[in-house]
Amino acid sequence: MATRMDLDGRPIKPMTICMIGAGGFIGSHLCEKLMAETPHKVLALDVYSDKIKHLLEPDSLPWAGRIVFHRLNIKHDSRLEGLIKMADLTINLAAICTPADYNTRPLDTIYSNFIDALPVVKYCSENNKRLIHFSTCEVYGKTIGSFLPKDSPLRKFSGFFSSYSQLTLVNRLQKHGRVGEWSGYVLVGSYTSPCIFGSIEKQRWSYACAKQLIERLIYAEGAENGLDFTIVRPFNWIGPRMDFIPGIDGPSESVPRVLACFSNNLLRREPLKLVDGGESQRTFVYIKDAIEAVLLMIENPDRANGHIFNVGNPNNEVTVRQLAEMMTKVYAKVSGKPSLESPTIDVSSKEFYGEGYDDSDKRIPDMTIINRQLGWNPKTTLWDLLESTLTYQHRTYAEAIKKSMVKPIAS
Ligand code: NAD
Ligand code: UDP
Repeated sequence: MATRMDLDGRPIKPMTICMIGAGGFIGSHLCEKLMAETPHKVLALDVYSDKIKHLLEPDSLPWAGRIVFHRLNIKHDSRLEGLIKMADLTINLAAICTPADYNTRPLDTIYSNFIDALPVVKYCSENNKRLIHFSTCEVYGKTIGSFLPKDSPLRKFSGFFSSYSQLTLVNRLQKHGRVGEWSGYVLVGSYTSPCIFGSIEKQRWSYACAKQLIERLIYAEGAENGLDFTIVRPFNWIGPRMDFIPGIDGPSESVPRVLACFSNNLLRREPLKLVDGGESQRTFVYIKDAIEAVLLMIENPDRANGHIFNVGNPNNEVTVRQLAEMMTKVYAKVSGKPSLESPTIDVSSKEFYGEGYDDSDKRIPDMTIINRQLGWNPKTTLWDLLESTLTYQHRTYAEAIKKSMVKPIAS
């Protein structure tokens, strides 16, 4: 393998990375990338290894020995500090991060995203180890616009702007000298925009609040004790191996994130459920683009330390309804089966998620800092990333779903 160079033309020394949550969606893609393209070693920590088992197979693989799996729960395992000490860098991905859990399991959500991360931060700080911690775009919360009355002219203005891509939007606002005036309404992922959560009984915000507090703690460890940290705020990274298909490789009564919910509906030829009309907006980025950004952070510490990076694709913004429509079209193409006559159905959030659910209305990542520090930009369009992802979903699950749906004949 040729020596890898950093963005400033210096050779990159092979390093050992302690990756907590390596067996999850993002972890599995990051491990794959590190094994295939770099000389770095990975200590992979998780309670599950299914999504990385293809990397852990014995000696025949070219990276044998460079990735070692440690099955452990960071809540209660004395091996954690030793593993962090053995590594040059710790990446913390471990979390409960599916919205269906935030209002139904708020205690587990808060413990997982705040309390359980505390020893990781402490051990990194005490042992002078670098930390890349995964937070979330959800720390930005809701837009100010979402609190305005439905008939407010400001809301209409915000809606008008939302039809533009973020760059066009910023350019237009700058031209008219109105960035300050309007940014609070529309530029949700701007680094200076306020973080606005719903009230306490809207337990949806337990996750965002716990993530925000751990961000503040890490930032304070940096300021007071010199911890070298980078915080990542992912904006809806999606792709193969995300979550699970209920009843196939996850519990049938559990609700995964939207990509897996809609994939499950498409595979089972059921209408896609639009929560509260599917009006919320999201920007989706392909996992493989996002992993390129993480690798740049890993290999360019001088440019990444002390920064908080939004990682998303501002050009891939859709409403959830538009996402459902596009996924329906893409799935018809990749499966060769026509879509249903009524491909979507409306459902209330109370019915779908239960009491205490609330939603982020809009999230667009401000890319200024990641552009400036790492020169990173996402490449993949929403159509293309859905095509490769739904091809994977169809190939992986269609047969299993067919079998599970064949009802035993009553004797
Ligand atoms: P994931 O659920 O697929 O992965 C998390 C992994 O952490 C799982 O494999 C889980 O088993 C492991 N884990 C959880 N608690 C653990 C514990 N106590 N001990 C050991 N392992 C534990 O989620 P993901 O999508 O890969 O997300 C990774 C991180 O990125 C999370 O911190 C999440 O909040 C953040 N994030 C992701 C997205 C996204 O778009 N995927 C968006 C916002 C934030
Ligand atoms: N959603 C939906 N139908 C589903 C699953 C989710 O309409 O079957 C909506 C959900 O209410 C939210 C958006 O899709 O507005 C994205 O949900 P996801 O679970 O991916 O997480 P979030 O982006 O809210 O963190």
